[in-house]
Amino acid sequence: MRLNAVEKTYRRGDAATAALRGVTLEIDDGSTLAVLGPSGCGKTTLLRTIAGLENPDSGAVAIDGRDVRGEPPERRSVGFVFQRYALYPHLSVSANVAYGPAARGVARAEIERRVRAALLAMRVDEALWTRKPASLSGGQQQRVALARALAIEPGVLLLDEPLTGLDASLRADVRVELALVQRACGATMIFVTHDQSEALSLGERVAVMREGGLEQVATPRELYERPANAFVARFVGTPAMAQLAGEIRAGRFRTAAGEVDVSAEGIAPGAALAGFRAEAVRLDADGAVRGVVRAAEDFGADAFVYVDGGFGSLVARCAGGAPLPAAGERVGLSIDASRAHFFAARDGLRIEPVSIRA
Ligand code: ADP
Ligand code: MG
Repeated sequence: MRLNAVEKTYRRGDAATAALRGVTLEIDDGSTLAVLGPSGCGKTTLLRTIAGLENPDSGAVAIDGRDVRGEPPERRSVGFVFQRYALYPHLSVSANVAYGPAARGVARAEIERRVRAALLAMRVDEALWTRKPASLSGGQQQRVALARALAIEPGVLLLDEPLTGLDASLRADVRVELALVQRACGATMIFVTHDQSEALSLGERVAVMREGGLEQVATPRELYERPANAFVARFVGTPAMAQLAGEIRAGRFRTAAGEVDVSAEGIAPGAALAGFRAEAVRLDADGAVRGVVRAAEDFGADAFVYVDGGFGSLVARCAGGAPLPAAGERVGLSIDASRAHFFAARDGLRIEPVSIRA
C-alpha cells in the first residue's frame, strides 16, 4: 500500500481544517503499521481515506500497486473497525461475524471455522455467541466488531482505536491476540491509536502524526533511540523525555544560568533543547545539578523522581526498592551526557554530532 502526497481539507462555511497535509507513506504487504498521534491530528481521516470513505483533495492512494482513487470501499480489499462501530442489532453475535464472509460467497464450513476462530481469538465467551449485540457490554461488542473484521480475512485491516473501550487488563490480552491473528492471516494492518504503549506493542513500524502531517515513521526502537524531532521525543517514551532550553557553545550544552552544563561534543553551536530520558538521570547526593522534588512515583520494578530547578524539570529513574525522597526535598542529580538528545531551538529538529562520539 502506498500513499503519495495525500491532502485533505475539511471546509465548513469559511472554516477550513487541514486534516491531512502531504502524507506520503509506504506499508509493506503483511506488515503492521501503527499510527500514533494526539486527538485531532488526522488519524481517522487517514484511515477513512485508505478505506475509500473519504476522497483526498489531491495525492494518490494505491493498494497492491493499483490506484484506488474513486473506487468504493467495498471494491477495496479492506476490513475496518472504527471507534464506534455498530453491529447489526437484529443478528446474533455469530451471525454478525459470519456476515462478511457469507456476503463474499465463502463456503459454509469455512465460514463456521472462521467465526469460531475469530470469536475465540477476541476472547468472546461462547455463551454469548447466540445473543443479540444489545445484551452485550460495550467491551464485548467491540471485540465482536473486531472478530467480524477478522472473519473477512481482508488483505488490509484498518483499526481505529479499537481497544479504547476495553478494561486495561483485557486491552493487553486483545492486543496480543490481534498481533497473533494478523501474523497468522498475513493481512496488512494499520492500527490507529493515541496510546503509545499500544502503538509500540503492535506496530512493526510506527508513524507519528501531528496536525495532519507525519513527523516520523520508524521502528519502535528507532523512535525511542533516535527521535527525529523534539515533538516525537516527548510523545514517545514513558515518562516523557525531559527537555531543557539552553545554548550549545564550544562542545558544551548549558542552560541560561548554567545549572545544567554537560558535554555536547561535535554538536553545532546555537540555541538548543537538550533531551534527557529518565534512565540518563539519577539521584546523586554529590551530583552537580541541584533541585527540589516535585513528585515521586513508585512502580515497584522502578521508580521515577520529578525534580524542578532553575534549569526547568528533569525526571530521574531509580531502582525499585530504593528509598525515595519526599516532595519538597532538595536533591542532587547526575546526568549521563552520552545519552543526551539535542534538538535545534528554531525548528525542533534533531541535531547529530558531526563526528561519532568516543
Ligand atoms: P483524529 O482521528 O486523529 O482524532 P480526525 O481525523 O478525526 O483526527 O480529525 C482531524 C481534523 O479534522 C480535526 O481537526 C477534526 O476536527 C477535523 N475533522 C474531522 N472530520 C471532519 C468533518 N467531517 N468535518 C469537518 N472537520 C472534520
Ligand atoms: Mg479518530
